[in-house]
Amino acid sequence: MSNGIPRRVLECCCVDCYQHLEWASVKGGPRAPIIPTLSYWDNDIVVEKGEDLLQVVLLRKKGRSLRLVSKCCYSTLMVDHPFYNGVMFMLFEEGCMIQWDEMLKSPYETRPAESRIFVKDFESARGNPPKFHGDPKKIHQTCCTPYVKNWNSLTSPTLENPKGETCQSIFARVPKIILGLEEGENIFQLGNY
Ligand SMILES: [Zn+2]
Repeated sequence: MSNGIPRRVLECCCVDCYQHLEWASVKGGPRAPIIPTLSYWDNDIVVEKGEDLLQVVLLRKKGRSLRLVSKCCYSTLMVDHPFYNGVMFMLFEEGCMIQWDEMLKSPYETRPAESRIFVKDFESARGNPPKFHGDPKKIHQTCCTPYVKNWNSLTSPTLENPKGETCQSIFARVPKIILGLEEGENIFQLGNY
């Protein structure tokens, strides 16, 4: 990615983020975190190698999030959703190897999550939720609070001087699979994934 600083960092408790990461972990990918950390980056990327290993995964036919997974390690590399307006993509900080801002400080320190959303979806079966270190006023049951609602408009509508390509152009040329999972369905209770 050409810009090494994310636009925003959040924690999301929603069933879809978790279900995808659970699926990826069952396939041999990184262990699903109790609450995923999401970061949002400029939609300007260069694929250097390994494109033949990439696939787009949808949780269900009508799913709006497209998640790019590498089949060698089941890391989730990028997520696109119409809401991101084509100017950014999301990634799961625990779902792949991410770049650090500083050599000895983890991103949890250098770019802490500013809010925690979709707390209503959190199920205790996931484990003990880690403490939220940000402003307690920014813990939300869903994402529909005024400042989160408007945050997309804080980002520029277009990217200036892109150096690479967009996630949409990559997603368009790699194979796509649809998992056909019900919303909130627990992967570990299913034998066939
Ligand atoms: Zn989510």
